[in-house]
Amino acid sequence: MANLHVPMISKTQEQNQSLHYPSVIELSKSALENNFRFLREYYGEDVRISSVVKANAYGHGISHFVPIAESCGIDHFSVFSLDEAVQVRSALRNHADVMVMGWIDPADYEMAVADEYEFYVFEPEVLPLAIEASKKTGKKAKIHLEIETGMNRTGLTSVELRACVKILKQNPDNFIIRGLCTHYAGAESISNYFRIQKQYKNYNRTYKWLARQGIVPDIMHTACSAASVAYPKTRMDMVRVGILQYGFWPSPETFIYYTHGNHTNQNPLSHVISWKSSLMSIKNVKSGEFVSYGTTYLAKQDMTIAIIPTGYSTGYSRSLSNQGRVLIHGQRVGVVGMVNMNMLIIDITGIEEVKIGDEVVFIGDQGEQDITVASFVEFSDQLNYEVLARLPQNIPRVIVE
Ligand SMILES: *Cc1c(COP(=O)(O)O)cnc(C)c1O
Repeated sequence: MANLHVPMISKTQEQNQSLHYPSVIELSKSALENNFRFLREYYGEDVRISSVVKANAYGHGISHFVPIAESCGIDHFSVFSLDEAVQVRSALRNHADVMVMGWIDPADYEMAVADEYEFYVFEPEVLPLAIEASKKTGKKAKIHLEIETGMNRTGLTSVELRACVKILKQNPDNFIIRGLCTHYAGAESISNYFRIQKQYKNYNRTYKWLARQGIVPDIMHTACSAASVAYPKTRMDMVRVGILQYGFWPSPETFIYYTHGNHTNQNPLSHVISWKSSLMSIKNVKSGEFVSYGTTYLAKQDMTIAIIPTGYSTGYSRSLSNQGRVLIHGQRVGVVGMVNMNMLIIDITGIEEVKIGDEVVFIGDQGEQDITVASFVEFSDQLNYEVLARLPQNIPRVIVE
């Protein structure tokens, strides 16, 4: 794999099993089982689930997440780029389909075809590369035609699709047309309602046009998590499920849509991820002193603070300075002062018997309390997606029941 092209150099360090790390991410197997059980029932048997594991499985970690998803019966995975597809394949215990929805370097199509990865086609120029790869390897390229329906990102325009149809018809032995797909421009917000309806119509019109040209893709798929909830007709043959499987709603609006439509106020999803660290130092600070770099935090009373070995280089956003909340001894306490590169400071005034090594929770439960990614979002103005996807690859992941 030495010659695989990658969008950015990102090498996961080999983690030494017995060594401890400044923070750790736990993945709950039972939470994931719960989420897939719910989604299967919600979508019905006829809809296949593709587990979207781009961005290192939304920060959960591809190599840990994929085998658990597989043990829940998932046999289709979607990623952004070919290097991620290779990571998924090497994490799999059995065969599953792996689909690249985005970037493949032109030099890597031969590998993509040889190793039977499915991939999106959103530029006609890719087809000659795929034909060449198919002839060389003796395998058919498994493609999904991605069409432009109104998002104006990747996707074949009608002129480009026509060019593709011509090439596909001339080279029927080199392709399996696995799917026809598109992506909606913001299904998590009602403000995009008309745009999405229009995209849905454009998609169906194109599907019919293709059929008249004699091209019938194996499956139709358009929905991400939000579309699958807010526009059930977009589910078609397969849903590309990202955020929901991890136990998060794409937006508060999508959750409300679900609860209203299903006459429930229960959240059927459970968070798979928890992110924890431990206390490295404790200190008393006198009233009137500043804490951490600069003067952003002034102690207004005598207080006790604790230093935690996690900072913005290890996933805790600097924008949570003086804002973030963590759990210690089952209590919610605030981050004080600036988040540093490798450390942050919390206020533990009044919490009894705190000692070095005590567990601190950034995301997840402790006692009766929990901290969700959504609470980070309010503070740091980032989406659920971004908080998760930014969790660094070098935090060790462990699987818990
Ligand atoms: C990321 C992505 C998805 C999954 O989105 P969620 O909102 O996390 O479900 C689906 N389709 C495409 C093309 C994507 O890029």
